[in-house]
Amino acid sequence: MNVEPTAGAEFVETCEHFDVLIVGAGISGIDAAYHLNKNCPNKRYALLDTQSGFGGTWRTHTYPGIRSDSDLYTFGYKWKPWKGPPIATAEQILAYLDEALDEQDIRRHIRFGHRVLEAAWDGAAKRWILRVGQAGSDNSVVMSCTFLWMCQGYYRHSEGYTPDFPGMERFGGRIVHPQTWPDDLDYQGKRVVVIGSGATAATLIPAIADDCAHVTMLQRSPTYYYAKPNVSELAELLRPLDLPDEWFHEIVRRRYLQDQKEVTRRSFEEPEALRAELLEGAQAYLGPDYPLEPHFTPSYRPWRQRLAALPDGDLFKSIAAGKASVVTDHIETFTETGIKLASGGHLDADIIITATGFNLLPLGDIAFTIDGKPLDFSECWAHRGILFSGVPNMAWVFGYLRTSWTMRADLVCEFVCRLLNQMDQQGADVVMPRLRDEDRDMPEKPFIDSENFNAGYLTRSMHLMPKQGDRQPWIFSQDYYSEKDQIEEADLDDETLRYE
Ligand SMILES: Cc1cc2nc3c(=O)[nH]c(=O)nc-3n(C[C@H](O)[C@H](O)[C@H](O)COP(=O)(O)OP(=O)(O)OC[C@H]3O[C@@H](n4cnc5c(N)ncnc54)[C@H](O)[C@@H]3O)c2cc1C
Repeated sequence: MNVEPTAGAEFVETCEHFDVLIVGAGISGIDAAYHLNKNCPNKRYALLDTQSGFGGTWRTHTYPGIRSDSDLYTFGYKWKPWKGPPIATAEQILAYLDEALDEQDIRRHIRFGHRVLEAAWDGAAKRWILRVGQAGSDNSVVMSCTFLWMCQGYYRHSEGYTPDFPGMERFGGRIVHPQTWPDDLDYQGKRVVVIGSGATAATLIPAIADDCAHVTMLQRSPTYYYAKPNVSELAELLRPLDLPDEWFHEIVRRRYLQDQKEVTRRSFEEPEALRAELLEGAQAYLGPDYPLEPHFTPSYRPWRQRLAALPDGDLFKSIAAGKASVVTDHIETFTETGIKLASGGHLDADIIITATGFNLLPLGDIAFTIDGKPLDFSECWAHRGILFSGVPNMAWVFGYLRTSWTMRADLVCEFVCRLLNQMDQQGADVVMPRLRDEDRDMPEKPFIDSENFNAGYLTRSMHLMPKQGDRQPWIFSQDYYSEKDQIEEADLDDETLRYE
């Protein structure tokens, strides 16, 4: 950093200082700001975001059809009613966030075009010192804060994950990753191969299929899809009753939470019955003559990866109409004109879309130091999956992967505000998680247990993430139904939190 971490009183006086700096103005950062306004109204805070606007994921992803996977009654905030269809487009989500910024007076706190490059904890000054790059300038500014609230998401926005397929350089057409969708991509009348069959492929294919000559979804292995009309029966039943928006939202939200809980339970206790139901749903849209083997019969237990939602069965409808088809095979090599398959076949293509996932990014590409020593995040123990051992005054909003991200964001935001108020009550400038004596021999477990959830982007990069233990508060279960009470009732005065 071009400033010394222990630069002393003079420096600390002169750089712009905040009680809380929030990194990221996506769903989580806006949630954090709402909770600060509500629970810690005297804190001076700002949100810093690299992008030129709010919304994070919902701004950076611009591929055709981009939409949520979860219902917005749970993916939306607990505190802002959702009134639209359960599965929403990026445009609808951005409009919802836009309203929230005005309703909650958050907009004036956001600084766009601000990329946090370095974060140095200065133990003498008891604050974080950040070096922040500004869009359109080679210069960076220095800011400081007492508490650093990481709401930077969990993957690299600038570039998606593309495996190093053999022969890629030979292909004569365009290769595109959905995360960096080119504005000028003309797929009208073209033969398109989409590699992958997760949520992104499932979203993209029906959105482009009518315009292309044909779209082939090439998958290594099948995925479970959850196909149903994009409508909540309960919401439609309640709508004519003209309930207050808050009631309507809360009732429908509870219904979704209960349904999701039941699906999770069944995925562990009766996976075969759940699997049969999902396959029946597929058959209903694909038609009785479409063979589900081998393209739609995954080998893993349902829910070990997020179920890819198909609102109104859209992907299946494109397949049934002959606009799209599925191939389950391995890639031997790209060729000048397409993809040669391990089974010997060839897929002709003008455009190849690699819907092959994310690059996990634990700390927003920020170089962290603690009193001059580089922070190795993988050495830290996650405290309730929110704070990190040995890292003072810092929290990370990491949401749910199976159920909606935001349900955890809401819980974490309440927790962090409670912690900030606890610090004030104790007159403490610093809070830092630390292991108790009895925790020192804890077995190390990965941040996300692959038995529980095994998406490729996580398993590829789990070694970069903090670890979890086998006892509270060092467990991160990714289970809303147990965490809800654990986080809400967490004792902030136990020995695992040191205040000074
Ligand atoms: C296509 C897609 C669909 C998804 N659908 C769902 C869904 O339906 N349900 C669900 O639960 N989850 C879904 N997810 C997961 C999704 O990422 C989260 O649910 C949620 O949007 C994450 O919000 P966030 O604010 O935590 O992070 P992000 O949306 O990733 O936003 C983080 C922000 O932080 C900024 N930032 C990062 N690093 C820095 C830095 N160093 N300095 C300054 N700013 C920085 C970024 O520019 C970005 O604007 C989806 C993800 C993708 C990619």
